[in-house]
Amino acid sequence: MDVEYLHHGVPLADYQLTKADRRRQDEAAQVHEWVQRQLAKAPPWSEERWERMRQLLGPPVPPWELQRWQLRLYCGHVVEATRSRERPRPDGGVCDEERCPECGMDPAVIVAFEPPANNHSPKSSRFARRPPSDRRSKAELVAENNALRAELKSLRGQA
Ligand SMILES: [Zn+2]
Repeated sequence: MDVEYLHHGVPLADYQLTKADRRRQDEAAQVHEWVQRQLAKAPPWSEERWERMRQLLGPPVPPWELQRWQLRLYCGHVVEATRSRERPRPDGGVCDEERCPECGMDPAVIVAFEPPANNHSPKSSRFARRPPSDRRSKAELVAENNALRAELKSLRGQA
């Protein structure tokens, strides 16, 4: 199965923020704040509960299941991130934002994106073979992993 990867707002370096971008960023920040407040009220998780969550999520997504993307974030930085290979675009849903590794803005919504130019090199296609799978879809796993990572980070921040 070949996914055709989309792009939006290229060239990334020249992208100008729109009203819709500002609205999405405001919403993301509000949701983030709300989650922080809820987490602050929640009792800390036991080790047993963490272990159950790890089992539930399964092992991390292996590299050959991932697609690299160039993302322009709300703060203006262009960063690289990975998503499940099966997704034609890197944004939407819980994947709509990143923590910017350059300036630390968190959350920073994705405002523009493109797959890297060297995406389909022969070297990477060597890893494209898929193992047999009876598990949930990789997109679901990535979404869950991202959500868990955000939660983990918040919980650690409190400790
Ligand atoms: Zn930034």
